[in-house]
Amino acid sequence: MSPTTTAAASQTPSVRTSSALPDYAPIPKSALGPALNEQGYYVGRVERNLYWITDGVYQSAFVTTRDGVVLLDAPPTIGRNIQRAVDQIAAENGVSNKVTHLVYSHHHADHAGASSLFDKSVTRIGHEETRRLLLRDNDSARPAPEETFQDRRTLQIGGERIELAWLGSNHSPDNIYIHLPDHDALMLIDIVNVGWAPFAVANLSDDVPGYIEAPAKALTYPWKHFIGGHLGKLGTRDDVTLHQQYMADIVTSVKTAISTVDPTRYFQKYGENAWAAVKGYLDEVTDTAAAPVVAKYTGVLAAADVYTANTTFWVMESIRLDLGFGSQVHP
Ligand SMILES: [Zn+2]
Repeated sequence: MSPTTTAAASQTPSVRTSSALPDYAPIPKSALGPALNEQGYYVGRVERNLYWITDGVYQSAFVTTRDGVVLLDAPPTIGRNIQRAVDQIAAENGVSNKVTHLVYSHHHADHAGASSLFDKSVTRIGHEETRRLLLRDNDSARPAPEETFQDRRTLQIGGERIELAWLGSNHSPDNIYIHLPDHDALMLIDIVNVGWAPFAVANLSDDVPGYIEAPAKALTYPWKHFIGGHLGKLGTRDDVTLHQQYMADIVTSVKTAISTVDPTRYFQKYGENAWAAVKGYLDEVTDTAAAPVVAKYTGVLAAADVYTANTTFWVMESIRLDLGFGSQVHP
């Protein structure tokens, strides 16, 4: 999540006084997950031999099998605590702690950047686009997967079944659905942040229509446990539905704002400075559209007052440019 780092770094110390920092609504207690241990992680059972690990901001998961451990993502913030969590669970259950397989949900460094900590003999599995992007990015922390697939692939490892599917681009071009039918679980990263509003620009989504459609695709699978990749909690089907409603409310509100906000005064004031006029107009559309959504979801989704306007801007641009909403051809 480098944009926050970049934004913070660009501020000079003189303006970073406490009085200049905005206040936000309290985080609903329901948005927070289990307490972390002394090493800064929590590991818990999802169902049977499927476990999840969190550091409170990122999530990883793993399945213990009779032949070793299948790891699902390796976020660098959890880093060496991944193996510690695996060791802990393996010791408690008398099973192998050797990570034999690593499945990448997508190519992003914040979910895959601890990949190189694992043995060179680990088998890395991912979508073919994940391989292409990792070869392009050439980051030694994230070796490209040798085993790839195009649309669907079922893994049978040590008697356990994991179904991988690529159902179109969304947050990233290569983001996949990881379904564990015998564990009643779905792992889908960077779409729904359980209990929280999305991060900046719709969870940094490359493809906003794909991002908005992804929860419905997730809900076509049978599952009870949702692993979303961020913050400190697992989710339920209701959490995914709530996120879906939040995004739908942003779309409806943006269409109303595009249809009602009048840009005339911005073009009259700024004249030949086209960007100043466009910025003023689009900022007003964004703020007008975001306001009722922030009001509705404050106290429901954590940090709805932090990033909703930013996500609304990105959804507005998609509605204008992908859907052509409000577009007029010069007479
Ligand atoms: Zn990502």
